[in-house]
Amino acid sequence: MAQAKVASLLAGADEVCLACHVRPDADALGSMLALAYALRAPGRRPQRITASFGDQPFEVPEILRFLPGLGLLSPPRDYPERPELMVTFDAGSIDRLGMLAGPAERAGELVVIDHHASNTRFGTIHLVDPAAAATAILVLDLIDTMGIELTRDIALGLYAGLVTDTGSFKFSATTPAVHEVAARLLRTGIEPAAVARQLWDRAPFSYLGLLSDVLGRATLEPAAAGGYGLVWTTISCADRVRHGLSLDAVEPVIDVVRRTDEADVAVVLKQSDDGLWQVSARSRGAVDVGRACAALGGGGHRSAAGFTAQGAPDEALADLRPLLAEDS
Ligand code: MN
Repeated sequence: MAQAKVASLLAGADEVCLACHVRPDADALGSMLALAYALRAPGRRPQRITASFGDQPFEVPEILRFLPGLGLLSPPRDYPERPELMVTFDAGSIDRLGMLAGPAERAGELVVIDHHASNTRFGTIHLVDPAAAATAILVLDLIDTMGIELTRDIALGLYAGLVTDTGSFKFSATTPAVHEVAARLLRTGIEPAAVARQLWDRAPFSYLGLLSDVLGRATLEPAAAGGYGLVWTTISCADRVRHGLSLDAVEPVIDVVRRTDEADVAVVLKQSDDGLWQVSARSRGAVDVGRACAALGGGGHRSAAGFTAQGAPDEALADLRPLLAEDS
């Protein structure tokens, strides 16, 4: 079984190099930090552990700075050029590793742990299960296979990933088994209210002003997406500068927009500091936004996906509309 193989590779290696996808979310970073902690469990032989993600500049998103183990991270420029054993987390394709795609290409063994249906199987060994609600669940299975006792430090990263990728246990992948995993993680002493507050139940006051601007210009297209409806809005750099907000800080806007009853698909186009437009798409299930975004060079899941637009918002939407109609 692939899991046992990975467990024995991890046990035998002198050096283990971990990498999660760029602009990490809680599932990517939390899963990676959980395995980093597990590798340092008492009784295991000491190993050199490198953990990073390929962003330049190298910055942990503000909402994830409560995670334990950030001290285990190092910037991608310090990453081994040619890792003997490398493990990736929550990355559906090699380009999602950014600056660490090169080391991944040259790695002796490349273990890919992921739950994206669009995963391109870019590794040498794959722990890939699109049915898993989060990469965190696959990492927990691996940690169990390794025979490592769950500690709060391990569990907190996994819980943050699970709660994020299930939308606080609201999305359709939230099975009874997911709640059983959550119960196991919570038993290590995690406070769910504190995690929720760190992850999304907070924002500076200026966020309300930004919401007012961008929700006020939201557009509903009831006939789009094969008649299932599309709602969209934009957040430009100028909007963010006016309210003093980072790209990460405006990430939750989509969760308001996607409540629209009249639209199966919600899209928010956010301009990053480099001027490019990052397009986030959500579907309530009738339309496969993962396929539509993959066709435009992005990726994701059936109900949550994204891509980087090459042109202006109008052009990105013009590219997206026929794909949404097709995939409904
Ligand atoms: Mn994930």
